[in-house]
Amino acid sequence: PKKKAQQPDVLAEVSRALEIANLTPASNYINRYPHELSGGERQRVSIARALIQRPDFLLADEPISMLDVSIRANIMNLLLRLRNEYGMSIMYISHDIASARYVSDYIAVMYLGVAVEYGRVEEIIKMPFHPYTKSLIDAVPSPDPDWIHHELKIIGEVGNSVDVHPGCRFYDRCVFRKDICESTPPPVRAGPDRMYLCHFDQDGLIENDSDLNAEKEEEGEAEVMSADGEQGK
Ligand code: SF4
Repeated sequence: PKKKAQQPDVLAEVSRALEIANLTPASNYINRYPHELSGGERQRVSIARALIQRPDFLLADEPISMLDVSIRANIMNLLLRLRNEYGMSIMYISHDIASARYVSDYIAVMYLGVAVEYGRVEEIIKMPFHPYTKSLIDAVPSPDPDWIHHELKIIGEVGNSVDVHPGCRFYDRCVFRKDICESTPPPVRAGPDRMYLCHFDQDGLIENDSDLNAEKEEEGEAEVMSADGEQGK
């Protein structure tokens, strides 16, 4: 006779997943309808549902964007606990670079569907190399009253992700661009714990900085004018 496949204890598995997601005691939640749960609890149920299969990898796509700010930290801490206690790998997708920093070890910064910079999150946030990452990080406000706000080095509007530029996808918005950027896709530049897509290294980007060059030109003109003025005395 055929052996009957062993059925998992569904109730026990659901309870286990709910409790891992901090919906405790599970018996309080197991028979509730969605409208009987708060936004944060519903998000925990979504995470619990993903945990049923005991995955090694969890894809969390904007898991906190629809939540009240007061409960965002709870969900981020839950993700960190899943990583630390269950050894789960998590891909966290977000528009919020501050929350990505909180939950991630590595970060890939995307622009028009391409990862333009990838590396250890702390390194990249402290010292971004790609012009888009630089402007993203400069746009994050800080509660520090001594924080010095850098002027955003970005121009134009977000490009069309279907009709992309033949060269660098960031060309239309980049203040460091040169002719080669318009026609040729940039190479991958690699460093310790870091990769980014650009035709220029950091020294090259400083040389290309149009604002900096304009300031230098103005300073040069001012010096010439003051020298002329002194000669005329
Ligand atoms: S390749 Fe050129 S346009 Fe693209 S990010 Fe680098 S400098 Fe800017």
